[in-house]
Amino acid sequence: MSTPLTPGAARKSLGQHFLFDPSVLKRVANAGGDVAGKTVIEVGPGPGGLTRALLDSGVGKLIAIELDDRFAEGLSLWPETRAQNEIEARLTVHHGDALEANIPDLIAQAGGASPAMIVANLPYNVGTPMLVEWLKAADWRGTMVLMFQKEVALRICATPDDDHYGRLAVLSQAVTRPRLAITLPPGAFRPPPKVDSAVVVLEPLPPEQRFNDLASLEKITAAAFGQRRKMLRAALKSLPGAVEALEASGIDPTRRAETLTQAEFRTLATAWRNAQ
Ligand code: SAM
Repeated sequence: MSTPLTPGAARKSLGQHFLFDPSVLKRVANAGGDVAGKTVIEVGPGPGGLTRALLDSGVGKLIAIELDDRFAEGLSLWPETRAQNEIEARLTVHHGDALEANIPDLIAQAGGASPAMIVANLPYNVGTPMLVEWLKAADWRGTMVLMFQKEVALRICATPDDDHYGRLAVLSQAVTRPRLAITLPPGAFRPPPKVDSAVVVLEPLPPEQRFNDLASLEKITAAAFGQRRKMLRAALKSLPGAVEALEASGIDPTRRAETLTQAEFRTLATAWRNAQ
């Protein structure tokens, strides 16, 4: 594959750390299971290493969303420059901010199917808000295979009483089952980031196991973990109605947020919402 830019041209402000090793790219592309025939959204294709690995793995429709015009233009030329013009039918490049893109519209325009997978080596500066946005999108979003800083990956997969347990674990595990699939050292990327990275695979929970009121859960977890070393009855004072919801839930108010299970957070968020 030709690389349109040298690593030195990477834009730090856009979180650009690129992967070029074909064996690593193949593992990332397939970390969430067989992608053949599937509709996949790739956020931040950059020079296109993961894009190529996904196409080579047989993705049916690949919708690549890239904010950097240099890469968006380069990738748009692929169908003409590549011998296999069948790629033209499978790859759509959208130039824009993934946080503002109307992904269901992009899927429809590309003739893709929902739920679509999301596979991405995310820009670290906006990876967490992107994940939270996609967690809320139950209608079009399928399995997610996402590369984060390892620290963030651990926070997504953490369980109660783990140092990494917090808002991100509770929100992620309300609608998906996350697992840490691949860990990569800084040297796997060009230019190398300062920290280790990890791929998390987030499988959607079956509909009957999901807790879909993420808006209430976001409010409750922000208050509860905002002062995580405090007892819940003190930490929840910052959210009107939350202390009353705690009493109604029958959860010991002297406990700390980091000890509450997923089920207890769901109970608390439901009690808070019902009292609004
Ligand atoms: N996928 C490539 C790879 O693995 O080598 C590049 C990954 S790099 C970590 C992140 C990519 O996301 C960059 O190409 C960057 O330009 C792009 N990006 C950053 N912010 C974005 C946004 N808000 N929407 C879409 N793409 C974005």
